[in-house]
Amino acid sequence: MVVVMKPQASETEIENVIKRAASMGAQTQPICGESHTVIALLGDLTQVQRATFDAMSGVQKTVRIQDPYKLASRATHPERTVIDVNGIRFGGEQVVVMAGPCSVESRDQIIQTAIAVKEAGASVLRGGAFKPRTSPYSFQGLGEKGLKYLAEAREVTGLPVISEVMTVEAIDLVAEYVDILQIGARNMQNYALLQAVGKTRRPVMLKRGLSGEIQELLMCAEYILSNGNMQVMLCERGIRTYETATRNTFDLNAIPVLKRASHLPVVADPAHGTGDWELVPPMSLAAVAAGADALILEVHPDPESALSDGDQSLKPERFADLMCSLRKVAEAVDRSIATPTGSVDTAETSDKEVPNTVEKETGVALA
Ligand code: PEP
Ligand code: MN
Repeated sequence: MVVVMKPQASETEIENVIKRAASMGAQTQPICGESHTVIALLGDLTQVQRATFDAMSGVQKTVRIQDPYKLASRATHPERTVIDVNGIRFGGEQVVVMAGPCSVESRDQIIQTAIAVKEAGASVLRGGAFKPRTSPYSFQGLGEKGLKYLAEAREVTGLPVISEVMTVEAIDLVAEYVDILQIGARNMQNYALLQAVGKTRRPVMLKRGLSGEIQELLMCAEYILSNGNMQVMLCERGIRTYETATRNTFDLNAIPVLKRASHLPVVADPAHGTGDWELVPPMSLAAVAAGADALILEVHPDPESALSDGDQSLKPERFADLMCSLRKVAEAVDRSIATPTGSVDTAETSDKEVPNTVEKETGVALA
């Protein structure tokens, strides 16, 4: 940190800043220029508050040199973090594609979708069981039953699963069934939830808040990291701007900005970023070109009848086409698309009768 003194600051004011910094455990290095004196604060600055100096007489401003997000910062951790989820590596040379419906709607729907996305080359299955909906009258997710169906889809396909956890109380339940915990955009700054997932040892994908600045996203990641969980991925999912042509404004800049600022893997979510299935393929390609380590995409066997986010969901055939284009873009930026591990266990599907109807269950109580 650097304390910049006002041009007319007196010797006593400069001396007071140096004494105050020393009382907080910092070493000081005054630099006297022609008009200004600046005082560099060095060493252990954990007890140093910028506001203390900003309030002192003769001080013009304080300038932070180090990132406030120490554990997430690339400056303090230059090598990239790679998160291994059952052999699928996030943050390495390969780009991971996660795909599946916005919500788990029935056993049939999630298993069918899981098989289709795996066949097309996705290596992680997504599906929401606890849904954060704008309206309390909209489908809220199947809750634990949805988690059970997800776990069954994992058994059938071998794909690891990711699903959202919305409350501290539900963490143990969700962690029992899923491989990656998703913190949704609306909960980016739910500090109690961040601290609690930080105490688990499950990988966490943290989504950027609707109005979250990139630095705020990194500070939220810091809450998880500082509680001991170093397996955090950052997800750009679009932000609120004045633009109304799309549901959100997908902030492509955030991808290289996050990769420069942090060693954590960066995930792109062009489905929520655009809210429009037609825009999902071009923005997915752009995200990989921009350096995303993973994509999370919404795929539904029948988007028109989806219980949430059908308008931004790809049909399985369109998803398969996109995977072909993604492979070419990945190659152009010296990467490749991760391939799913294991084969589909057809015995699993034929043993158990898969119902053909969609269970339109609503009003599931949130844990
Ligand atoms: C989702 O992934 O379905 C979701 C609700 O995302 P977000 O939190 O980004 O809105
Ligand atoms: Mn969704």
